[in-house]
Amino acid sequence: MSSSPPVGRLAPSPTGRLHLGHARTFLLAWWSVRARGGRMLLRMEDLDAERVRAGMEDLALEDLRWLGLDWDGPVVRQSERGPLYRAALAQLAEAGRTYPCVCTRKELASAQSAPHGADGQGPYPGTCRGRYTSRRDAGRDAALRFRVAAGPVGFTDGFEGPFEEDLARSVGDFPVARRDGEPAYQLAVVVDDAEQGVTEVLRGDDLVPSTVRQKVLQEALGLPHPRWVHVPLVTDAAGRRLAKRADDLALAALREAGVAPAEVVRWAAVSCGLPDRGEGLAGAYLADFDLDRLPHGSVPAPTY
Ligand code: GLU
Repeated sequence: MSSSPPVGRLAPSPTGRLHLGHARTFLLAWWSVRARGGRMLLRMEDLDAERVRAGMEDLALEDLRWLGLDWDGPVVRQSERGPLYRAALAQLAEAGRTYPCVCTRKELASAQSAPHGADGQGPYPGTCRGRYTSRRDAGRDAALRFRVAAGPVGFTDGFEGPFEEDLARSVGDFPVARRDGEPAYQLAVVVDDAEQGVTEVLRGDDLVPSTVRQKVLQEALGLPHPRWVHVPLVTDAAGRRLAKRADDLALAALREAGVAPAEVVRWAAVSCGLPDRGEGLAGAYLADFDLDRLPHGSVPAPTY
């Protein structure tokens, strides 16, 4: 069987400064694809207008270049791809796979007393299933939910191995468009990965709970599945995953403090089981890269 070189993507959200956790995941994504002579794309996930912050896109690009990462072709922005998402939403509606939903977060929270399920909430109870024929008919701003089928759906993660989830039990029918009409993350990612020809999605394991949703959307839209590789996250001194507000570990802050990018790349490489090369940016570790060397379990952030 011949396999063509992979196509990967770096997909930062310009909602805050990138930190050491992002650096490690983006390095891994780049190493994995470039080590096999593949193409790397860059996609700005800037759909959430309320969370996007001015200047964060430029800063993210500067951070990535600082580490020695590069990409092929122009930067693609989700905010400029509305027609593609609308076409996919129309396709799902046409096939009867979505329905309008007017439930607010508050209403859903008060309907569910005990928190459980993949998102810390129970599955959507199906309140609006079969209730309206169209968004207009719903009267107030409606989201669109995707109808999930009962039963387990699985995928084999390139790092963690087999994973299975029964969406009807964990999240229930999930949103593919928000109340303001913007596509939901799950829909946009699936449309973009397919349209951009992405064959490998390497990202943090906080996104594992999204993957089965993305898989069923790909099936409903007749799109191919990429290879999924979810890698462990970097944690702070208290063992919590780094958040974008972990500002002292922001790459821009380290740069301002005079930390050399080779130091950051070296820490990431060694934490990924690669030999210590001392000097050099991302490219210095390409020849050694092997996903099989990556340790399981989260990784503590270094102190500089
Ligand atoms: N934009 C997302 C993030 O920054 C990544 C989404 C993905 O890799 O699918 O967390």
